[in-house]
Amino acid sequence: MEKICPRCGVLSGRKRFIGDFCEDCYLEMIGIDLPAQIELPFCEVCDRVKLAKWQKLDKNALEKFVKKNVKGRYDSFHITHLEDNAYEVVFLLSKDSNYLEVRRKFSLKKVKTKCDDCRRATSGYYEAILQIRGKKAERWSQKILKELQHRTFVSKYAELAEGIDMYVGSKKAVSETLGILKLTPKVSDKLYGVKDGKRVYRTTYCVRV
Ligand SMILES: [Zn+2]
Ligand SMILES: [Zn+2]
Repeated sequence: MEKICPRCGVLSGRKRFIGDFCEDCYLEMIGIDLPAQIELPFCEVCDRVKLAKWQKLDKNALEKFVKKNVKGRYDSFHITHLEDNAYEVVFLLSKDSNYLEVRRKFSLKKVKTKCDDCRRATSGYYEAILQIRGKKAERWSQKILKELQHRTFVSKYAELAEGIDMYVGSKKAVSETLGILKLTPKVSDKLYGVKDGKRVYRTTYCVRV
């Protein structure tokens, strides 16, 4: 028996029907809502974006971002990059034995800022000094620097007569880096000052290579 879409009046002989409604009306009524433009803070120095934390805008990050901003019921979705900051999301959903696609476009409005790391790096902040000493100091420094920069920032790099000094944003990053490179440092803490009634220490790590 032929059906008539109660919303737009089209006959079922002319369009696919989902339940009582034609496909187009059904899709409009589902109400998958994604804002057409979404603001996203991004760091003008390191180019990372701020989602739950500061991170590179990769596929995984984009998916999280869409999940956070979409309203409505769907089974899954995939994202296509259109151009510049424009994306299309295809949401897939099933209804009875029908599979439906709902397409939504959105663009990212990137809001320029500086991430916490870059803000600290440019203000000269550091938690640790890493001293590299010995004949191979120069060569090892490059390796160490590369590893460190995956984890934190280096706010100063000093070439001295006795070796290399790096001023590093995070103690934890120094320990991890030296661990990975199987270097054992001599560690010493120096009282740096008092902040909010607590003593602040800066740690010096010295490695011989
Ligand atoms: Zn209709
Ligand atoms: Zn940054």
